[in-house]
Amino acid sequence: MDRTSARYIGIRGLMLSLLSASVVVTLATCLVVAYGVLRDSLIHSALESHKAYAYKVASGIDQFIHSVHERLQYSSQLIGQDFSNHALAISEAKRLQVQDSELQIVVVADAAGNILGGYPQLDFAKTVKLGEAARQAASAGRPLVSKAFTSPEGHFSVFISNPVRDEQGNVLGLIGGVVNLREGGVMSILLGGHQLADAFAFVVDENLQILYHPDAARLGAVLSASASANAALRGDDGELETSDYRGIPMLAGYAEIKGAHWAVVTQQPRDNALHPLRNLMRDMLWKLLPVGLFGLLLLLAVSTWVARPLRQLANSARHMPDADASGELRRLNAWYAEAAAIRSALLAGLQSLDQKISTLHHAAESDPLTGLVNRRGMNAALAILDQQAQPYSALALDIDHFKRVNDTWGHDVGDVALQHIAGIIQACSRTGDLACRAGGEEFCLLLPDTSLQVATEIAERIRTTIAASPLDPVGAMTISIGVACRTYAEQPSGAILKCADERLYKAKDTGRNRVVSGD
Ligand code: GH3
Ligand code: MG
Ligand code: MG
Repeated sequence: MDRTSARYIGIRGLMLSLLSASVVVTLATCLVVAYGVLRDSLIHSALESHKAYAYKVASGIDQFIHSVHERLQYSSQLIGQDFSNHALAISEAKRLQVQDSELQIVVVADAAGNILGGYPQLDFAKTVKLGEAARQAASAGRPLVSKAFTSPEGHFSVFISNPVRDEQGNVLGLIGGVVNLREGGVMSILLGGHQLADAFAFVVDENLQILYHPDAARLGAVLSASASANAALRGDDGELETSDYRGIPMLAGYAEIKGAHWAVVTQQPRDNALHPLRNLMRDMLWKLLPVGLFGLLLLLAVSTWVARPLRQLANSARHMPDADASGELRRLNAWYAEAAAIRSALLAGLQSLDQKISTLHHAAESDPLTGLVNRRGMNAALAILDQQAQPYSALALDIDHFKRVNDTWGHDVGDVALQHIAGIIQACSRTGDLACRAGGEEFCLLLPDTSLQVATEIAERIRTTIAASPLDPVGAMTISIGVACRTYAEQPSGAILKCADERLYKAKDTGRNRVVSGD
């Protein structure tokens, strides 16, 4: 890994972090949405059951009051036929009290509310205690449930009464019973066991005085405000998100007890209703965790798969000097559009370099005798190769015993022989190769993007072609060739040419007419 790649994050890491971030965000969004939906559904179902419970309890109490009124009405009709018969009134009071355990005391009073008698036997103190309730009932002149008061037995109670009328409908008095609101009474039977955990119900009268509450200490207290009780007292039944007198958020259901104009409120702290949500969310997290881990592994595999062509392209770009770089690029599996485009660009870059070098052949000064690129052109080509990290091979060629040709056939024939050899070198080289006359009877052939092995094959082809192409009148000539290849990106052309020259001398030393491409 070079310094550049160390400084930047890899495509795989980048993809992995982006995809992981999107997975985490998606999961978190799902959890938040699920939390919201579950919370709303829990609140909705808690409110619904509070509403149903309040309605059920209100109906139960209503029925109870109604049945007490019915029994009182029967008795009042009976004693109304002979209201002056005190013994009849008292025996009817006794019958009622004995038959109905909810009626603590049953009394008979005159039209002004003065108590005439009752059962169990009333002493003076009891009469005084019940006096106010009896007077309230008498002044109403209709079936009534009184305000709550403390009964002679010391219980928090109400007085349920019915007027006694004569045959003409004139009010003669009343008969009524005291109903205990405290524990053990009808209220606690109907209201005591709430179906929802942590939930409780209470009953208030029209003045918001608490008639029943699971906390006995609160009996008789008057609520300063209660949205749910007020709604019930307006005659509605329903459900409400509200808060209690301490400001704690509550889920409430409410209903009116029509027979007494009371309100039943059943409620539960909102947090308690949401308690199952925590477990649900924890379960969901545990179930999502393996899925998330599997997803991450999948992402790792996908990002590796996508990043591979780019990593291979980067490696190829780094190792452009290597022989057969273009072959390696062509073999690379660039399976998606961007990778394929980068590969094409790299291949085009390689090709344009080849073309640049080959165009020098025309642009630079050429040797007038042979038409090949002269030494100046060759130096320019080498300078380009020095700048690029492109691999190439160089051939150093020298005609064997050329002095003899000059000596034997003269300088002009020697020139023709030089042209003949130059023509063969040119013919044997490929498009993109650069044939130069380095000086005298020495030549150089530059082969871009060519490995040592391929360059050696080309050198051998040149050597055999020359040996097999006699020139009249000189006859067959031979040539010695040294081959060198760029072995690493920054290797200067001077060193490569020197290596080729050394191998050329070796070819001369070892008998000429040969190619030397190794030490
Ligand atoms: P070797 O096999 O060791 O290379 O022997 P050689 O005779 O080829 O080598 P040497 O360097 O002794 O001789 C090179 C000769 O090439 C000397 C020179 O006269 C001749 N020469 C150089 N330039 C030209 C040219 O432009 N035209 C002609 N006709 N001959 C040239
Ligand atoms: Mg020479
Ligand atoms: Mg020579």
